[in-house]
Amino acid sequence: MDQLIKDIDIITGEEAQAVDYKTTQEENTGKSKKIYIESYGCQMNFSDSEIVASIMKENGYDTTSDFEQADVVFLNTCSIREKAEQTVRNRLNHFNAVKKSKPEMTIGVLGCMAERLKDKLLEEEKIVDVVVGPDAYRDLPNLVNAAEDGRKGVNTFLSREETYADIAPVRLNSNGITAFISIMRGCDNMCSFCVVPFTRGRERSRDPHSIVAEARDLFERGYREVTLLGQNVDSYKWSPEENNKARLNKKEGEVTQVINFANLLEMVAQIDPLLRVRFSTSHPKDITDEVLYTMKKYDNICKYIHLPVQSGNSRVLEMMNRTYTREWYLDRVRAIREILGEECGISSDMIAGFCTETEAEHQDTLTLMDLVKYDFSYMFFYSERPGTLAAKKYEDDIPLDIKKQRLSEIISKQNELSLERNKLDIGKEQWILIEGTSKKSSEELKGRNSANKVVIVPSAGLKLGDYVKVKITDCTTATLFGYVLEVNPL
Ligand code: SAM
Ligand code: SF4
Repeated sequence: MDQLIKDIDIITGEEAQAVDYKTTQEENTGKSKKIYIESYGCQMNFSDSEIVASIMKENGYDTTSDFEQADVVFLNTCSIREKAEQTVRNRLNHFNAVKKSKPEMTIGVLGCMAERLKDKLLEEEKIVDVVVGPDAYRDLPNLVNAAEDGRKGVNTFLSREETYADIAPVRLNSNGITAFISIMRGCDNMCSFCVVPFTRGRERSRDPHSIVAEARDLFERGYREVTLLGQNVDSYKWSPEENNKARLNKKEGEVTQVINFANLLEMVAQIDPLLRVRFSTSHPKDITDEVLYTMKKYDNICKYIHLPVQSGNSRVLEMMNRTYTREWYLDRVRAIREILGEECGISSDMIAGFCTETEAEHQDTLTLMDLVKYDFSYMFFYSERPGTLAAKKYEDDIPLDIKKQRLSEIISKQNELSLERNKLDIGKEQWILIEGTSKKSSEELKGRNSANKVVIVPSAGLKLGDYVKVKITDCTTATLFGYVLEVNPL
């Protein structure tokens, strides 16, 4: 679904249309109440909804896919661009209309908009009953009870420690094959355009043992791929000394090994060779050769890196506070190619029309794209977000029509590059993991290759979760097509 949301961005060059949210599935375990959750925005949010569902389940709620059946409706929101927030507001108006005929229904806003707007939604706009930020989900049952008793339910406390490490997420909308695991929360990077450090708080890494346990449990339940999630996975760092609870068990001065992202990746890869491992997102300033060598060492770590560049011009990158230059970025791409080869997939995020960006600087983004040859990208035009460094320091001075023009040039360039890259796969033999049916035909299944490209194959004799060796015969800008050579060799 994240893919779908981002695809919509790519196609329209705009954000969040009315369709791009994900709802809870029906799960009836005989509880007395029902909760309906709509999740917007990034994959982190979808993972958070699985934590919310788990907390609510412990407190007497089953999930429903029909909000009219729900006692509690939560919107897990996104603030990344203005339009994402507008979509949620429209949806809230819709729920409020429904609430008129069902006043006992509790409506809650969770996630980034809750954190950004806090009690404004409760006090001034009076459109919701509960407002809960991303670090306060353990408090949800209390807040819902308070709201049911006619009191205000608000908690937007941002924690330096909360990682929900002990909560087993309820897998929502799951295909039973692929799952996401949050390995850290928050972000310390302060990119000037970005609202995330303000809405999701300081960066903190989750206990690696709880991550490995979650991945192992998924594997034992039949899952065959996990994606480790964080805003900046390469800065993952955990040691008992830095973790308050673990520190209690340590003697004064005792130092334990620090687990970095390469170590964590290795720990997860070692669970079983049949468990594929992916991760997202990598920050160009932090991705190390150690991570690249760990990827090379394990066949089950997929050879794909999401490495958002945002702009191809060093002056713009400096204004964005990305802390790397065009040259640094290209050097990281060189290292990827040197260590992992040409077949490693690389994707990016790009922002068109950031404050003061000149035409020549925009051209630098296009030339960088040509140099890297991204397999695909998520592309946006700049949307000023209140409270960010850019909103405080710079004028949002590129007219909307120019932003859109530049974005459409970036999108056309990416389409050319995607096709060029996909054509290189034709004739190759690749391993894919079957994870669903093709959108277009029930006679076909889809899987993804190591580089994260979708491959469509005839469904005969295959089932979800099969590892399949395919020969690629054709492609479009977004998809590869092939036929099956071999199934589940191990
Ligand atoms: N942590 C990731 C990183 O550093 O690349 C990305 C996080 S953000 C949720 C996803 C993408 O949204 C960013 O990479 C950026 O391209 C885009 N984005 C963030 N703020 C934006 C803004 N104010 N306007 C337009 N796009 C924005
Ligand atoms: Fe936002 Fe930058 Fe953090 Fe990504 S790394 S979440 S773009 S501040």
